[in-house]
Formats: sequence, C-alpha cells, structure tokens
Amino acid sequence: MKLSKNILIIGAGFSGAVAARELAETCACKIEVWDERPHLGGNCHTGRDAETGVMVHHYGPHIFNTDSERVWAYVQKFGDFRPFTNRVKALTARGVFSLPINLLTINQFFGKTFNPEEARAFISSLGDATIREPANFEEQALKMLGRDLYEAFFRDYTIKQWGCHPRELPAAILQRLPIRFSYDDNYYNRRFQGIPAEGYTEVIRRILDHPSIAVHLEKKFSTADFAANPSPHFNHLIHTGPLDAFFGYSEGRLGYRTVEFERIHCTTEDYQGNAVINYTDRSVPWTRIHEHKHFAPWEHHAKTVAFREFSKETEPGDIPYYPKRLASDKTLLQRYRIMAESHAKAAPLPISFLGRLATYRYMDMETVIGEALDFAHSAANRITAKQPLPTFPNHES
Ligand code: UDP
Repeated sequence: MKLSKNILIIGAGFSGAVAARELAETCACKIEVWDERPHLGGNCHTGRDAETGVMVHHYGPHIFNTDSERVWAYVQKFGDFRPFTNRVKALTARGVFSLPINLLTINQFFGKTFNPEEARAFISSLGDATIREPANFEEQALKMLGRDLYEAFFRDYTIKQWGCHPRELPAAILQRLPIRFSYDDNYYNRRFQGIPAEGYTEVIRRILDHPSIAVHLEKKFSTADFAANPSPHFNHLIHTGPLDAFFGYSEGRLGYRTVEFERIHCTTEDYQGNAVINYTDRSVPWTRIHEHKHFAPWEHHAKTVAFREFSKETEPGDIPYYPKRLASDKTLLQRYRIMAESHAKAAPLPISFLGRLATYRYMDMETVIGEALDFAHSAANRITAKQPLPTFPNHES
C-alpha cells in the first residue's frame, strides 16, 4: 500500500523539481514547491529575449553534459535535447586559441606541427616534475602543463573567476578541464551533450507538471517564520536553498562567487562567431562573452545578443553561483552541518538538505539530477518502511 505524505520543497531548480516529481510518482506524496524568485528553474532559467527572439540562459550558459544513461534518459522525458557540442575559444595575450587545450592549441601556441605522441612528450617535458601530489590548482597546472600554458590560459582567468590566487584553490577545479593530444575540441569529455530546444525553464515546468505538485513562486521561506508558525499540514521539509541562509547566516556566510552580465548591443547578425569566448588575460576585466543564438544552431535569428560575464564576491542580496570551498569555508560548513543535524532532530518536522546550495558543492546539472533521483527513490522506500529521511542524503566530497 502506498503511504501518503505532505512534503514542502524549497527551491524550484533541478534538485527541487526532480525530487518533487519522483516523490509524487513513487509514494503518492502531495508536494508543495516554493521558490522566492518569480520563475522556475533556479540558475538554469531560460527565456526568449524580447528584442532578438533568442533563447537566453539568464544566469549564464548551461550545456547539459553527462555520462549517465539514466540521467540522459530522464531529462529527455521532459524536453527535446538537441545535440550541441561546446567548442570554446580562448582570447589570450598571444591571440585566439582553441579550448580545452588540444593538439591544435599546442601546435599553434608553440608554433609546432606535433603529432599526438610528440605533443604528449613535449607537454610532459614542460610539466614540473618536482610536484608529486599537487596541493592546489596552480601546482596541478604546473605539473600538467608547465608555466607558459598555465599563465596564458589559467592563471589570470582563475584570478578573475575566483577572486583569489590559484594557489588557494583546490586542484580539483582544474581537473574539470581535459587536456587532449588530438584535435578534439569538445569542451566536455562526456558521452551525452545537448541543450533543450524549448529551454530549461520549460523542461522544469514539465517535470513539475503533476497533479500532486503545487508550485508557488515569489514565496520566500524563512526558517524563523516557519518555526514560529509550523504548518501541521507538512510532515517533511526538503530544503534546496543555501545552507547558511537557512540559519539566517548566524555563523557567517559561506564563500561564493557570483557573476554579473553586461548586455552587449550588437549591430551585426553574428557578434563573435561562437557561443563562448573566454578572455584569459588580466588586461580584460570580464571572464568571457557568450552569444546565446549559437547555443541553438537549429534556430535562425536576424539579430543577436551577447553578454560580458564578470565574476565577483557574493554580497548580501547577490545570487550565489560558485562555492569557493576555501579552508575557512569548509570549517564554517562543518559548523552548519552539525547545526542542521541537531536542528533536524529538534524541528517540528524532519528536514533533508539537497542540491548544490544546500550541500555547498560545485555541481553540474547532471550530478544534481542524479542525486535528486537517488534521494527520492531511497526516500520513497523509507516512507513506505516508516523510517525517517536522512538530513544529508549526499555526503560532501
Ligand atoms: N579556467 C581557466 N581558463 C579558462 C577556462 C577555465 O583558467 O579559459 C579555469 C577556471 O579556474 C575555472 C576552471 O578552470 O573555474 C573550471 O573551468 P570550467 O569551464 O569547468 O568552469 P565553469 O563551467 O564552472 O564555469
């Protein structure tokens, strides 16, 4: 027999939407989803630009990429994901090159005509062999690529992007980017890649389109208000918003970078000839320019729109994007996690923290969806077995 539960989910991004849908389908739960913004989709939100008709990724480019057949099959139930391969260019102090670093980049940058084997040997001769276990981003780059490539492509961009020196950042950030000894310039090393023809907001609208799910936009959740007026209607809370915000930042703010966009008023049909161009030199204050019509090559638009992206420290009121995860952040995170565990025990209703912001991790969309699916399925089993749901279903890495 299916048991019924009334669940409140805070956040209508991928985490909240996927958890809502799966719980609604697997355990006959009634779900309310609240989001403080006026739109669905969180930072994946897309919409047609009024001036050009181009589908704009309002919070910056989102290119869906995954190795998981399960996640790929899941998203395709809710959207027409068209093939899109991200081929990024880097505008450096020495000219325009292909990213991620590949055989073309290496040959053009060093004025060589290497084949893959020669390039591999050459790059390995440039790498700093004295670094055994890279302790940070800079060491990882010096070990893997040597100083010239590191400085041209990574050092200044990373300082602009993260607002701190690459020596202060984890090596894992660089590991996100492949280095290739072939002419393959696909930015991602993943089996499946695409962009939904109708935009991400429509995909999320369809995920949430279920008779047991009610969505309330522009509805802000406040822990204090909720504690003062607990709704007897709900018997579980799933929070996908920022963990520090949940506690009113009582212990301080977890470090995030935010990004700002400056619209470029383009007078040509094609502004830069590519979806994304990174500006890797410090002489330019923005990190990259994205021209959104190139994310939908299946559409035709006479006009175009592009945005310069600037990265900065998050201040109160800004939208958090990239968790910095410096040592001080991890200490603070640990404090909040302990508070969350004891709060969840004492609170009038159990709470689970799910997703990028609630677990303070640098996550791609596919990871968010995979974790929300895992969470919902194990939650459904626990609900059936009358067991409590875990406070932190996904451990931080
Ligand atoms: N990065 C860089 N130069 C580039 C592109 C990336 O230095 O042209 C560094 C930067 O620190 C960035 C990291 O590599 O944060 C990971 O890049 P990715 O493209 O994965 O960043 P995201 O998709 O998160 O914006």
